[in-house]
Amino acid sequence: MSAAIVTRELGKRYRSRWALRDCDLELPAGAVIALVGPNGAGKTTLLQLLVGLQQPSAGSVSLFGRPEPGGSAQALAQVGYVAQDHPIYRRFRVSELLHLGRSLNPGWDQDLAERRIEELGIPLRQRTGRLSGGQQAQVALALALAKRPKLLILDEPVASLDPLARREFLQVLMATVVDEGLTVLLSSHNVAELERVCDHLVVVADGRVQLAGDVEALLGEHRVLTGPSGGL
Ligand code: ATP
Repeated sequence: MSAAIVTRELGKRYRSRWALRDCDLELPAGAVIALVGPNGAGKTTLLQLLVGLQQPSAGSVSLFGRPEPGGSAQALAQVGYVAQDHPIYRRFRVSELLHLGRSLNPGWDQDLAERRIEELGIPLRQRTGRLSGGQQAQVALALALAKRPKLLILDEPVASLDPLARREFLQVLMATVVDEGLTVLLSSHNVAELERVCDHLVVVADGRVQLAGDVEALLGEHRVLTGPSGGL
């Protein structure tokens, strides 16, 4: 198994408080990895450290075997990232976001992005703030995929969606993963929602990794921790 993401004693401190500490992970390439934990567990902090939006207070991150804190620029070019909430997106037309993406990313695939958005039936002139939550999530996914990433990182992509939009989003995501052989890391509060789609599970609480490994192997132990609903 080759690793897409390796962290060693990774930690982030805000003032005197550790939001994440002693985080040692080896996450396999080509897998769908669920990062689950309750509010304030450290999920966003970990994802932001991986994509270089935060600098570590301790330890290191390595993406695709490039051992540099926060990931090297070369490695980060291979990562598509969808932030937890993206209010800035809502001010723009879809076409403006596409233009922005193209000007910022050398490997940008404009045809792919436009095709995905057309398939959703969304006019390019539409302001994203006027789209439904499910459509906004799909546009954010289309933008992240236009980078032609090897690794896709999504921070609670379905948290604010209704059950139908959640199912649709996860279906589209899984179809893409199968088509493109991507490594996907996505976070959620809800284990039950992701256990059907993920191969690998990482559970964080109180800024520490509590469990990590193959989902089949961990599920029994995890259910004992969370109860029958699987909610954290
Ligand atoms: P949620 O599910 O609510 O998004 P999370 O698991 O993503 O939570 P983080 O957002 O990583 O958790 O937050 C972990 C801890 O770090 C929390 O206690 C949070 O208040 C704190 N924290 C996060 N960002 C900052 C910041 N910029 N400054 C200070 N404290 C922060």
